[in-house]
Amino acid sequence: MNLAYKRAIIKLSGEALSGGKGHGLDDDVIDDICKSIKEVHNLGLELAIVVGGGNFWRGRSSEKIDRSTSDSMGMLGTVINALRLQASLENLGVDTRVQTAIEMKAVAEPYIRRRAIRHIEKNRVVIFGAGAGLPYFSTDTTAALRAAEINADVILLGKTGTDGIYNKDPNKYDDAIKYDELSYIDILNQGLGIMDSTATSLCMDNNIPVVVFGIDDPNNLIKVACGDNIGTKVKG
Ligand code: UDP
Repeated sequence: MNLAYKRAIIKLSGEALSGGKGHGLDDDVIDDICKSIKEVHNLGLELAIVVGGGNFWRGRSSEKIDRSTSDSMGMLGTVINALRLQASLENLGVDTRVQTAIEMKAVAEPYIRRRAIRHIEKNRVVIFGAGAGLPYFSTDTTAALRAAEINADVILLGKTGTDGIYNKDPNKYDDAIKYDELSYIDILNQGLGIMDSTATSLCMDNNIPVVVFGIDDPNNLIKVACGDNIGTKVKG
């Protein structure tokens, strides 16, 4: 199998780690995802992972908490997920480092760009926790930011409950059409909710290709890393 990319950011939503349950962590599902991550890493793909936190908390989960505090809670949720992924990957023999955008040195390294790149060059998988460390941001935007910072060729955006980008919700409309390819501006103009507009703009402005694919079958990660025509490719 030949890789289509040299260096990638894998973005996993928190929901992906919950095995479709929407909340918490599913050990078996996480192990299956990590086995696929190990496989693409063994093929030679340089990797960093940005993980979401929606399986614990999202900034917009409660109107009773001010948004900045609520977003801090969401960012802490991503750190739980980052440590959980690290545990599975290390159990599988993959060398990893967690770096967090909010300093918590007792549990992980702080995010330092040059150090992250060095880890990747030394064949370690870097897992980015705490998003970008800023309220009002998402982990999709973090994936775009980190991809630009570490010169990744692509963002592999693993989604649950879908296998790509459709013109309308395929769970509601039988005649929904899946796109094989799409431009960033199409996503913005058509208001397709697959990525938030900040993340989409950042990818557009920095020419970072994104492949949206279904992670419910973790083998899909290997397929997209090898350039198979599944999912939806987003570029300029
Ligand atoms: N978050 C944030 N700043 C960031 C990244 C995340 O404030 O840079 C917060 C935000 O509240 C978000 C939550 O963390 O709702 C979880 O992240 P996200 O919703 O992106 O996770 P996912 O939907 O991918 O599981």
